[in-house]
Amino acid sequence: MSTLVLDGCAVVTMDGQGSEYALGHVVITGNVITAVGAGAPPPASLHFGSTTRRIDASGCLATPGLINTHHHLYQWGTRGMAADATLFEWLTRLYPVWARMDAGIVQDLATAALAWLARTGCSTTMDHHYVFPRSGGDVLGATIAAARQVGLRFHPTRGSMDLGASSGGLPPDDVVEDRDAILLASKAAIEEFHDASPDSMLRIGLAPCSPFSVTSELLTEAAELAREAGVRLHTHLAEAADEDEYCAEHFGCTPVEYLDSLGWLGEDVWLAHGVHLDDAAITRLAATGTGVAHCPSSNGRLGAGICRTHDLVAAGVRVGLGVDGAASSEESSLIGEVRQATLIARSAGGPRALSVRQALRLATMGSAQLLGRDQEIGSLEAGKLADIALWRLDTLPHAGIADPVAALVLGARPPLELLLVNGQTLVERDQLVTVDERQLAAQARSATADLAGR
Ligand SMILES: [Zn+2]
Repeated sequence: MSTLVLDGCAVVTMDGQGSEYALGHVVITGNVITAVGAGAPPPASLHFGSTTRRIDASGCLATPGLINTHHHLYQWGTRGMAADATLFEWLTRLYPVWARMDAGIVQDLATAALAWLARTGCSTTMDHHYVFPRSGGDVLGATIAAARQVGLRFHPTRGSMDLGASSGGLPPDDVVEDRDAILLASKAAIEEFHDASPDSMLRIGLAPCSPFSVTSELLTEAAELAREAGVRLHTHLAEAADEDEYCAEHFGCTPVEYLDSLGWLGEDVWLAHGVHLDDAAITRLAATGTGVAHCPSSNGRLGAGICRTHDLVAAGVRVGLGVDGAASSEESSLIGEVRQATLIARSAGGPRALSVRQALRLATMGSAQLLGRDQEIGSLEAGKLADIALWRLDTLPHAGIADPVAALVLGARPPLELLLVNGQTLVERDQLVTVDERQLAAQARSATADLAGR
């Protein structure tokens, strides 16, 4: 088994004690972290020989690989469209374009989106795929093939919509599916792909899209199926004012009260956005252990509002970070979201609303909790899986900043010296090593043109 040593770097572990080392080491054997600490690695942790590689990591900061808890990979092909629209206007403009996708297009777009996530320090991502065109082929399988090619740890969710415009929903009828077909496909996806093992690279979740695009029957039955199969539940909730109005009109309650009435709050559920939450909703999310995936760039892009991150964290709600789909978050950089979360929380709640370390924790242990992986990833500790980002902080944008966490969170996006996922190298010196970035860009350009021309 091979051993890799990162030596001479700052280390921010994000463990329960918040341990940090100004000058330290991380030792990885196979796919597991075997030692983390100050100074040089202990001799007992090393087995020097032909299979040991030592990296001089001086000038760098090692953090846990970042974990993305909300995304729509296919949206890579519709970036920059409806650039100044509200959420409902933007959706209405894009549904018909998304309806023309097929598995080949989705695979090219998803590969590009995943590769960019890796370049921005992300080692694990979820995907929420909810558009299944009738003659589009296996689009969920296409995202899984893309993740295997790039090498990220992957938590795809089988999304769905069954409430078309003729029944009072927002999406046009031709992009929604029949409820029984959704449930059968969801069951099949779990049976084919879900791997519950501790070092799993792929776990499935179920994710009906939003209160205004799915029926209450689908929400109820998807929750039953997920709980029978032991997989997690995800949906969009309380994203924009339009949705508040929709829920008041159709259900006579708030979005959180609506989910609560359907048995949709709990430790196995995480919700994207959670922007429009009153105090009662925050209390209820905390009491039930329901998670929130905070997506600050997307919320800003669509003018949806500002998530009450400080109040959520203070109330004990589990919060992680997400980039959201690239059509409403063109930068799609997970380290960028850490910075954005910090700035927007302080703009709304003052200078102490979210510390730089709290913000980094949201993208690591916070996100790991939402995916049910906090025993395995999210911090640098002996025994955890080797998902590690090594950031270079000794070049022009950061040299001279004494606090490496302040440099990483508040400064420009640093060069990514190394990204390890499950002990494998995905990025080295800002270059992808598992895929050819120029080729991916060409494929994404051609898939986008193909989609636009249909
Ligand atoms: Zn979304």
